[in-house]
Amino acid sequence: MTCFDSTSSTSEKINLLGKTLPQLEEFFVVQLGEKKFRAAQIMKWMHHRCADSFEQMTDLSKVLREKLNACAEIRPPKVVLEDISSDGTRKWVLEVGNGSHVEAVLIPVGDNRRTLCVSSQVGCSLDCSFCSTGKQGFQRNLTPAEIIGQVWVAQKSFGPRKDSSNRPVTNVVMMGMGEPLMNYQPAVDAMRIMLDDNGYGLSKRRVTLSTSGLVPQLDQLGDDIDVSLAISLHAPNDELRNQLVPINRKYPIQELLDACKRYLKKCGDSREITVEYTLMAGINDQQQHALELAALLKQLPCKINLIPFNPFPDSGYERPSRNQVMRFQSWLHEQGYSAPIRTTRGEDIDAACGQLVGRVQDKTRRSARYADQNRIAATQLDLPPSN
Ligand code: SAH
Ligand code: SF4
Repeated sequence: MTCFDSTSSTSEKINLLGKTLPQLEEFFVVQLGEKKFRAAQIMKWMHHRCADSFEQMTDLSKVLREKLNACAEIRPPKVVLEDISSDGTRKWVLEVGNGSHVEAVLIPVGDNRRTLCVSSQVGCSLDCSFCSTGKQGFQRNLTPAEIIGQVWVAQKSFGPRKDSSNRPVTNVVMMGMGEPLMNYQPAVDAMRIMLDDNGYGLSKRRVTLSTSGLVPQLDQLGDDIDVSLAISLHAPNDELRNQLVPINRKYPIQELLDACKRYLKKCGDSREITVEYTLMAGINDQQQHALELAALLKQLPCKINLIPFNPFPDSGYERPSRNQVMRFQSWLHEQGYSAPIRTTRGEDIDAACGQLVGRVQDKTRRSARYADQNRIAATQLDLPPSN
């Protein structure tokens, strides 16, 4: 009998952290010849109690633990840096092999909500002109274990969960580094673990996937999973969006909005799409843009989130003045949109996405270019769905 990961060319142990319930059930039944219920049992150990070794699982027999040890492991990403801001924001830089790093940031919102911003790729291939992750280019996709491992790390920093009402992470947004729909199956698997009661037990309204607009994958997503959706629009017409978000040349705005409508139909409840609109001075922050945006979005049940551009060196863009951001918001108000402005958090720990990764890279002298590029995007993390 073999129980090594068939997807791996080496005889590495199977990392159980990134496995969904059906995948674990298959593992126990087919590969170990054990009972199906072991899957839920082990998921609870990993995701509720933050276990990372089979020795901790005292309700498994010694023989089963030895069997597991022989072919499987629980391997979360390695934490390289953990920082806590004076405003309560926590940030982790995680080593994901070959000297690559990604970040996860936990933002407290009020007393009861803590939103974790999770990365899905190292870098990104979609090259949006205002995005520092895009400027790094694509390095690699994260595995399901590396994606869900970010939630695991955040939860562990608060200690094991005592009961279901005590959740260190109440919301997750897939808004860190990378485009989740370009790393489709691992992102979906990780979100399934977020929703599963044996995993993190989050409701579908509290898990949000943000995408720059890959239409076929969006249609597939609606068939596979029910989570909240945010789209990175940033422009009210194709001419401008083609420049800011190059994937728009392949899937123009109307195709994207139609895909959003299909997605909402599949969800079958009164959900709204979150439309993200990053404001860049003199580019998309004028009254004509607000009016065009409001008119465009009449066709879609949605709410607009305004994100003042987070500058980074040589980006070529500037953040509009506070007054201009407020003016833009009031033009949308007049058209019936509340359009909250996403605030930057955790500035004292460089919680702006990318900064901390930059520091680690500098320390190891791996890549001077990060020092310039990664002074990024202040947190896009404050967003989340409304409850
Ligand atoms: N790839 C996905 C999710 C990650 S980016 C997407 O594009 O939606 C998360 C959000 O941050 C997106 O809306 C993205 O457009 C925005 N963003 C990227 N760089 C930014 C910057 N420098 N300032 C403000 N928002 C930025
Ligand atoms: Fe990739 Fe999103 Fe950045 Fe565009 S905004 S380059 S899709 S991470």
